[in-house]
Amino acid sequence: MADELVKHTCCGYKWDGSSEWITCHKTAKYNWAGKWYCGIHDPVKVKAREKKRNEKWEEKYSEQKRIREIERVEREKNNRIKKAMEHFCERLTLEFMETHKAFEWIKLKIWRKGSDNGNDKD
Ligand SMILES: [Zn+2]
Repeated sequence: MADELVKHTCCGYKWDGSSEWITCHKTAKYNWAGKWYCGIHDPVKVKAREKKRNEKWEEKYSEQKRIREIERVEREKNNRIKKAMEHFCERLTLEFMETHKAFEWIKLKIWRKGSDNGNDKD
């Protein structure tokens, strides 16, 4: 009976909001191993909150990891495409230059033939 009249206060710690951890001192509701805790600092609830926080963090972390992996694969794919494009452009340029050279050569031939014919006609 007497014990019920005694107001126990929480022995949990809380952040004072600026520089240090101070004892909670709220009216305690739970007794764990001889220590009293309020609704906020009840070790069971604290543990549950921590677990939830860890799970959330892990979820977030694994999500970030997943995104990073997608980005990495995407980057590799883009690099491969870029390399292939460069290679293709190089070949295309070379082929174009070859074709251009051949075309110029043919043009020169025709022009010479044309001017030869012209000379013949004159
Ligand atoms: Zn407390």
